[in-house]
Amino acid sequence: MNVKKYKVTGENKISLDDFDTEDTGGFSSSDDVKGMMKDNIVEIAKLQDRLYAEGKTGLLIIFQAMDAAGKDSAIKHAMSGINPQGVEVVSFKQPSTEELSHDYLWRASKVLPARGKIAIFNRSYYEDVLVVKVHKLYENMNLPSRCKGKNIIEKRYDQIRHFEDYLWENGIVTVKFFLHLSKETQLKRFLERIENKDKHWKFSDADVRERKYWDDYQEAYLSAIEATATKNCPWYIVPADKKWYTRAVISNVLLSVMKKIDPQYPVVTKEQEEALLESKKTLEELG
Ligand code: ATP
Ligand code: MG
Repeated sequence: MNVKKYKVTGENKISLDDFDTEDTGGFSSSDDVKGMMKDNIVEIAKLQDRLYAEGKTGLLIIFQAMDAAGKDSAIKHAMSGINPQGVEVVSFKQPSTEELSHDYLWRASKVLPARGKIAIFNRSYYEDVLVVKVHKLYENMNLPSRCKGKNIIEKRYDQIRHFEDYLWENGIVTVKFFLHLSKETQLKRFLERIENKDKHWKFSDADVRERKYWDDYQEAYLSAIEATATKNCPWYIVPADKKWYTRAVISNVLLSVMKKIDPQYPVVTKEQEEALLESKKTLEELG
């Protein structure tokens, strides 16, 4: 599967219209990708085991999307096969009073992955340049006036780019997914949530309110992606109208990212090897 076409590294200007939300990469159904996904899960699990054992690199995976794009199920699938000990999923909701009393990266900094671990962010500090931009929430923030200039969002793009670059230089790899959904598919999924009793819990009237700002959000996503996509910390704009294809793309991207990290089991030194042989001997003597 060619996932390169979904990768954005900030070198060229992009338009979201150039990314087809309905794309299925030439596959016609989930059956076509089943085998590949199974193999990917096994490979990812092996690589995670090495990542954990090596304990050098942390992996930060960010999911951003409009409501009903399939973030939750994408995360659930991305997790399958992964050893729960080495991964943590964090959801970024509306900030609490305590969180608002800090700089906006504070709550994310606290939950960054340790070396050898994976952190999955369900939403992230990108909300601080998305919902905060769309609703101009910064106007009511308790900030010194010098921090509330017109260019507050542009400044945040720079801060985020620098933050991720800092993480990269310190051994934390960041990969960002934007699940790119059409407005029609969002409507279809909202209506399903209303009509299907088992899906009621997933529906909230806040979702309808936000849908009214669809165009503003698309614009905010585009600017944020353009400003923060880099070679080391790329964005992937993943087609999200077909959930099975979204998951297939994500699994392939994760596999390629982990392959590139190429974690290795720690090499056993001569002394360690001798110590192991010594322990074996003792165990055998003890019976
Ligand atoms: P789901 O609806 O599938 O449970 P969700 O991620 O949409 O998942 P919600 O509780 O519905 O979860 O929404 C979280 C809300 O918090 C979103 O509307 C998001 O924009 C908002 N939010 C997140 N971070 C911030 C922030 N820094 N400032 C303001 N609002 C934020
Ligand atoms: Mg929601």
